Amino acid sequence: MKIIEFDKEEAVRRPEDSQGVQRGTPASGWRESTAWATPADPVESLTRPSSNANWRAGKVARASRSLKMHVLDLGQLRLDKNLMVANSTVATARNPNPPGQLIDVPVSAYFIEHPDGNVLYDTGCHPDWGGPRGRWPQQTQEIFPVIGGDECMLPARLEALGVGPDQIRHVVLSHLHCDHAGCVEFFRKSQLIVHHNEFVGAYKHFALRDDDSPYIIGDLERWSRLDLNWRLVSDTEPDQTIVPGVRLLNFGSGHAYGMLGLDVELRSRNGVLLVADACYTAENFGPPMKHPGISTDSLGFARTMERIRAIAHEKGSEVWFGHDAEQFASVRKFSEGFYE
Ligand SMILES: [Zn+2]
Repeated sequence: MKIIEFDKEEAVRRPEDSQGVQRGTPASGWRESTAWATPADPVESLTRPSSNANWRAGKVARASRSLKMHVLDLGQLRLDKNLMVANSTVATARNPNPPGQLIDVPVSAYFIEHPDGNVLYDTGCHPDWGGPRGRWPQQTQEIFPVIGGDECMLPARLEALGVGPDQIRHVVLSHLHCDHAGCVEFFRKSQLIVHHNEFVGAYKHFALRDDDSPYIIGDLERWSRLDLNWRLVSDTEPDQTIVPGVRLLNFGSGHAYGMLGLDVELRSRNGVLLVADACYTAENFGPPMKHPGISTDSLGFARTMERIRAIAHEKGSEVWFGHDAEQFASVRKFSEGFYE
């Protein structure tokens, strides 16, 4: 494992990522990446799609207006609503045993095709999350079963788009919980951008062999054996532009030890704030704000909510929540088109 600081970005070899996506182009790299028997081997070079003349033309075309955002639907999690919105089910004198509510919520990732380097926000669950030999501990499988087969997992979704792992320059991880960081290991050449405190917090669970958390020991162990390119964002770092039109939002602690969001500018409509589990659903957002059932720092969560509200108000952006079934149903998925 190596850790790369922001100002040493160029130390990382730039992946062959700026060739654009052509639907139907077979993507390579996933099969090689999934070869668990060869942990440190870099993935093979991609069969690159033919070059895009406009992107080659020069810097004029290199603006945020060129970005395309593809929404990847990565199956669903089934869980108790109290985990999403705390105190959803409250017993009363008249109703001492209210039934629990089991709900299905979407898992998602966002692939931003960009001439200056493609960006991926989150990675979903590991394809081998479940079963007796699955990555996730049995109690985690019980609490958050994944609904959806292999075809819903990130490698299959990107493959369907014609994108291999080495075509993604920046992988931004909102945080390292199992439904967001499950496919980190496939990105051997990408910069893996994560909040410093989240990285440290996750590896504390690893060191303590703490199986009772949303951080998966098997995933963390796997990453530690690989020569991955981590870029850690410290608590004090300001928001910063990753590529024109895509800004990293440093939310700090809240739902997890360290949360990162993305502010994506679109040409054809107002921008979008991708906030992942900094705010699960519209119900959490309010107002009034409602706390989630899982939170590392509840004051940080509340502070982040106000920050998101302020940015959205100032820029006229939409807030896309981490697990809102109703909102996600209304969003155009990659198989239907993209946002630009
Ligand atoms: Zn989540």
